[in-house]
Amino acid sequence: MADDAQSGDWETDFAALDRRHVWHPFTANEPGKAPVPIVAGRGSELIAADGTRYLDCISSWWVNLHGHAHPAIAAAVARQAATLEHVIFADFTHAPAARLAARLSALLPDALTRCFFSDNGSTAVEVALKIAAHFWKNAGSRKRRRIAALEGGYHGDTVGAMSAGRGSGFSDAYAEMLFAVDLLPVPDTWIGDDTAAVREARALDTARDYFAAHGPELAALIVEPLVQGAGGMRMHRPEFLRALAGLAREAGALVVFDEVMTGFGRTGAAFACLGAEVAPDLICLAKGLTGGFLPLAATLCRDEIYDGFAGADLGRMLAHGHSYAANPLGCAAALASLDLLEDGGFGRAAAMKGAHCARLPQLIATLGARAARPRICGTIAAFDVAGDTQGYGAPVGRRIKRAALERGLLIRPLGNVVYLLPPYCMTEDELDRAYSGLAAAIGNL
Ligand SMILES: *Cc1c(COP(=O)(O)O)cnc(C)c1O
Repeated sequence: MADDAQSGDWETDFAALDRRHVWHPFTANEPGKAPVPIVAGRGSELIAADGTRYLDCISSWWVNLHGHAHPAIAAAVARQAATLEHVIFADFTHAPAARLAARLSALLPDALTRCFFSDNGSTAVEVALKIAAHFWKNAGSRKRRRIAALEGGYHGDTVGAMSAGRGSGFSDAYAEMLFAVDLLPVPDTWIGDDTAAVREARALDTARDYFAAHGPELAALIVEPLVQGAGGMRMHRPEFLRALAGLAREAGALVVFDEVMTGFGRTGAAFACLGAEVAPDLICLAKGLTGGFLPLAATLCRDEIYDGFAGADLGRMLAHGHSYAANPLGCAAALASLDLLEDGGFGRAAAMKGAHCARLPQLIATLGARAARPRICGTIAAFDVAGDTQGYGAPVGRRIKRAALERGLLIRPLGNVVYLLPPYCMTEDELDRAYSGLAAAIGNL
């Protein structure tokens, strides 16, 4: 009882302090709106200060793999914290970073052997872009300065990542700050779509024309393989990805895969590049890297790229490094998360496609004309909700989010795109709850 009173005070205090002092990410500054105060998490559930349990259907912004507060990762972080919490990563190293780099290399396509650590998905992308640009400079090429990306792509919120992700529309307010990036079309597809092959051929024609005109000036092509996440869970076929990457290679450019969202089992395969059988020259990893525990990111590349920076000349050196680069706590969490992935996690991720396939068509049928373009890639299921407006600004998404929250579901539609992206530990019963909650939330709008 004393405890209850105490937690009550604490709850009121922190929610009030938040309202007074905290600025939340991607959150409109509207008076009278307050975030949900969360005090604990277990498995797929989050527990609010008032005791309400929310089913985390989006893995807390796509980071969580094994469930909240997983004891094995918590213990690994605690052990590491009591041993070495951090050390500068220039001129020094430590076992968790070296072991993690080796394990990531072993999981990824053969050539990706060299690992640069940073803090988050955006920085992993910035690092890849800087490596690509600097690699060509070191190689003596004055021409390879262009960066190409895909329409609808999203690569993070820092300025370089926003430039590459210009096609997502999230950075419109900052357009004057961005550098030029060439956008190529990507044909997104869905279950029952019989136009994909035609649209892919057209998109590849456009790409061919672009490479013919600008191939020798291209430093790198950056792509979210198989699924464009924040751009609306837009999915394309592996055939298209392979063909596009092949064209970029033929043009002599580096191919960068941004697997910040698609990595670590999210698309069913361990990494989208492995599922699609196409190896990039550089890969960006973050989000699921630590199982959702700590901010850590990695950019891995081929040895030839690393060798392009060889020499004592500081002008040839990659001028990049974050204070918390390769933080040992993050590395320890990542190693523990990889153990869990290899000990059943990857299997559960691969199996989730079947669980979605057994439920999504039924939900679409129930919603009738309100839902369109159902799509599934591994653990991700998505569809569009018909409404007056499309895109991220569509108000229908906010209404669905609110209605779902009232039913104990944490979802976060991207405008009119509703999706589930659960942690791999989510049970069949919990998935049933998620799907029936969605049907009710959307059906009763
Ligand atoms: C989320 C995301 C990023 C940015 O990662 P942050 O950790 O939020 O900076 C970059 N690329 C993709 C594909 C993402 O989904």
